[in-house]
Amino acid sequence: MNCRLCGSTNLASVVDLGATPPCELFLSADQVDEPEMTYPLHLRLCTDCLLAQLPPLITPEETFTEYAYFSSYSTSWVRHAKDFVDAQVARIDPKFVVEVASNDGYLLQHVVEKGIRCLGIEPSVNVGAAAREKGVPTVTEFLSPETGAAVRAEHGPADLVVANNVYAHIPDVVGFTQGLRALVADDGWVSIEVQHLLTLIELNQYDTIYHEHFQYYTVASAQKALLSGGLALVDVELVPTHGGSIRLLAQPVENAGEPTQRVADVLAREKAAGLHELAGYTEFARRVAGVRRDLLKFLVEAAARGRTVVGYGAPGKGNTLLNHCGIRPDLLAYTVDRNPYKHGRFTPGTRIPILPPEQIEVDKPDYVLVLPWNLRAELTAQLSYVGEWGGKLVFPIPHLEIVEVKP
Ligand SMILES: [Zn+2]
Repeated sequence: MNCRLCGSTNLASVVDLGATPPCELFLSADQVDEPEMTYPLHLRLCTDCLLAQLPPLITPEETFTEYAYFSSYSTSWVRHAKDFVDAQVARIDPKFVVEVASNDGYLLQHVVEKGIRCLGIEPSVNVGAAAREKGVPTVTEFLSPETGAAVRAEHGPADLVVANNVYAHIPDVVGFTQGLRALVADDGWVSIEVQHLLTLIELNQYDTIYHEHFQYYTVASAQKALLSGGLALVDVELVPTHGGSIRLLAQPVENAGEPTQRVADVLAREKAAGLHELAGYTEFARRVAGVRRDLLKFLVEAAARGRTVVGYGAPGKGNTLLNHCGIRPDLLAYTVDRNPYKHGRFTPGTRIPILPPEQIEVDKPDYVLVLPWNLRAELTAQLSYVGEWGGKLVFPIPHLEIVEVKP
């Protein structure tokens, strides 16, 4: 196995989470009696370039050509995107904006509103169609050096290229970065948002490791990934999405200025956490095992005492947790989700039924295990009614917490 960024064969194990199915492949009722493919979920670190990575066992073409996730369903995402557009327009006054993995136009709609020319590049046919319907010009493509060059030839270079929540999802990180360089003007900007490996490690967010995320970045490794396509990191911002992300602002190497103090500050934090060498990663697997033990101990004891436990949410990352811990309906009777697509379906691998959220008020369980822990504040308020019958909320990550809620 070779590092996909530098080609090195020096890949060290960070954590082995066993074999799991793709985390978004929720099963319909008639699929639960059929066989299900699982793939090893083993995170490794390249000790030469420090890119943390999973082998590309499932291609993005399999995941994203027909995709069920529409970003505009989430009001907090749309607001986050609007704030971003306002700030970037004020900062660099772009005349042409390109977004890669533009989804349903949740971000570019704010660029259209300002009367600025833009183009979305989105691989999912159905999601891109939704963007065009709301007036966001969108082409159906995966970004590569060739498709990037073709877009530039037809539409001209972009003053701003945005790539949010996609830089982890592409196994060909070098080709994708070259594609970004092909799109951007020689004096333009590339802005990338991606989960930060520092918070993943520090806060035990191991359930955000799944097959659709091929690599996990520190600012140090992101800098090297950007350079592989001719881009230099100029500035970085810490943003709260996904439990802790970085926004990387880069320019073509030949025109990039010196990196800001903020880049130096985040690099210093990573170095202090040991993440610029293998040593900083070696305790992680032990802490992950601790999260699993504590959660299982709680669920087994609750079952032994005759207490009822149900889940809240069926996010993709919940499936890494459920599969790694081996939690099945004997320990978690069902989970609920607001997305009607998931109702009547079952979690991949663990086959836990997914019901509408109203079921919680009907059954009044003793405990509700919250799987999207990254929305903790929002969900604690939303689920306060559980306190009416003395029920408690359970958060598994960063470590097991049982929380009383007041109605
Ligand atoms: Zn490497």
